[in-house]
Amino acid sequence: MKTYQPIDAFARDAEPEVKASVYSTSKAKYDKRLASLSTGFTAPDDLRKLAGQIKQHTIEHLDQYLEQAVTNLENNGAKVHFASTPEDANQTILGIMQSINASRMIKSKSMVSEEIHLNAFLEKHGLESVESDLGEFIVQLDDDMPSHIVTPIIHKNRRQIATTFEKHGLGDYNDDPETITRRARKYLREKYLEAEVGLTGANFLSAESGRVAIVTNEGNARFSISANRTHIVLLGIEKLVPRDKDLALYLNLLARSATGQQLTVYTQFLNAPKSADQPDGPEQLHVVFLDNGRSEILGGEFKSILRCIRCGACLNVCPVYRQSSGHAYRAVYPGPVGAVLSPLLKSNSYPDFADLPKASSLCGACNEVCPVDIPLPELLLRHRNKSKIEHQKKAAAGTPPLGAWAELCSHPTLWKTTLATGKAMNHLPIDKMPIPPIQAWTHSRELPEFRGGKFRKWFKQRKS
Ligand code: SF4
Repeated sequence: MKTYQPIDAFARDAEPEVKASVYSTSKAKYDKRLASLSTGFTAPDDLRKLAGQIKQHTIEHLDQYLEQAVTNLENNGAKVHFASTPEDANQTILGIMQSINASRMIKSKSMVSEEIHLNAFLEKHGLESVESDLGEFIVQLDDDMPSHIVTPIIHKNRRQIATTFEKHGLGDYNDDPETITRRARKYLREKYLEAEVGLTGANFLSAESGRVAIVTNEGNARFSISANRTHIVLLGIEKLVPRDKDLALYLNLLARSATGQQLTVYTQFLNAPKSADQPDGPEQLHVVFLDNGRSEILGGEFKSILRCIRCGACLNVCPVYRQSSGHAYRAVYPGPVGAVLSPLLKSNSYPDFADLPKASSLCGACNEVCPVDIPLPELLLRHRNKSKIEHQKKAAAGTPPLGAWAELCSHPTLWKTTLATGKAMNHLPIDKMPIPPIQAWTHSRELPEFRGGKFRKWFKQRKS
């Protein structure tokens, strides 16, 4: 399995141009979101609240809606599978491919497939799985990982992509975006025709009809569905909406929140395999629901995170994400949503990701932009509390400087003495001292000059 870069790698090593691009791309999306929501609707905030309430209702009654969705999917002719772990989901997909002697899969973008590391698993079993979303295709060629839910290569520039294409025999070096796109298109068209199996995620699944809604801007989901005899839909159990008519609300909010578009370019509905009444589509339709800890989240204090529709708006607005990019979160889901969700997924070990909720300024912007009104700052605080309680010893061992800081702040005499002598610290090579917590801090930051004491002096003068 691929490993993530260290937390400070992007801030430390990325080219200034790439850093600027992560910042400007996420900011541009945020600005477009604002414009498209306010021009399209008179009360966009009311829509967010409504969307949040419907999703909350759905997850509160997920047992009923899942049952309804399964009944309708099966009545439509689909075969439904449940996977409680990533391993189960991978084995299910492998089993489907083996049952029809398939060796090649073409897949559309799916965060759940990233969550279960599907490509690596299939490759290990000698099967080919090719990403058809342009960004994901580049990630795959580079043996990299996506760094944004919606824009997987937000951390790459076109020169890096041109070098990758040249390395993989997709033409001589050429960093013209149109040429890059044409080359990818030519390569992928062949792959659509060769593959025996297509796989997509699902943006939503209507319990009422068993209809799956998939949106893309490149039309690749449509190709992934059309060209193969067997189609697999892979989704988390929380992706349900109660009724078909709810899709109008969510498709409007998703596109606007993700990219500032009024609607994503292609919206695909899929609810049944080919039949006498329906001449188009795959001969077999499989729907694989993944749990991976979601049913445990349902019963606890973080359940509202299951409302998430993966629009990426909270990443785009987050001041921490804009500076750190997605790999710093060390997990498939970055940004504020990832900081809440990653520690809870079964495939992640809680203590390993319990530090993520601390990577937030708690400014509240993520909650303001979330199209399903998830109280992200509140959930981040709950996580901090949970990590403190459940991992007291580890947390305590990891925070001696804060303990010392608390001592200092709560003893006025000690505080004043420290301030009086503090300037001497400017002449000490503190950042070079072999003290691990200090070294960890100064590894990617400049130690500021100590200028303590001026505020008290100023305040005294002001009072007199
Ligand atoms: S938490 Fe909200 S803003 Fe963030 S990705 Fe999910 S739906 Fe979008």
